[in-house]
Amino acid sequence: MNRNNDLYITESDKSVSQFVADFTDTVKKYAFVVNNFDSMNMKNTFREHGGEVPDSFDLHMLQICKPTKADKSLTMNPERAIFMPKFVMVFSKEGKTQIRYLSYSVADIEAFVLDDPKFPESVSQTFVKIRSMIEEAKKKSNLPISIFEYKCNKCKNEFEHHISEDNSQDISCPECNTKEVSKKVSAA
Ligand SMILES: [Zn+2]
Repeated sequence: MNRNNDLYITESDKSVSQFVADFTDTVKKYAFVVNNFDSMNMKNTFREHGGEVPDSFDLHMLQICKPTKADKSLTMNPERAIFMPKFVMVFSKEGKTQIRYLSYSVADIEAFVLDDPKFPESVSQTFVKIRSMIEEAKKKSNLPISIFEYKCNKCKNEFEHHISEDNSQDISCPECNTKEVSKKVSAA
């Protein structure tokens, strides 16, 4: 294992709970699940079992799994399970939300799961995907979505457009594609 290559270290401006919520949403888009959703907040889990941690302890350990991939993969070879599940760690340090994710090199995978030439490539893709989902969750916008009603000046089509405040792209008519549209009243 090599710290520089195998340990993904990043931070987010979001709070721990916001990042965790956004990451949980993001992974669902790609058919992943947080397996341990009810126990990932380690403060609660430790305390439920007699552990003592301060209120400021906010480590979340998210166990990420893609059931529609892991089912076939682990049926084929349960020895692969040592590289699953994959935990994403989220905690705050000095006022900043920290994210850590440890993956493994192809050489390590080959050395630990023997006689399974297809596995390193397959699991490596998942490692890369988890890193990209972390980045997507960091960027996920939580600005309030406003719904505006528009009327097309050409074909008179009326339509709604959902706009978050940071997302001021050109609006065009979904029927005739013209950008000559007028905003009506803001609905919600
Ligand atoms: Zn139109």
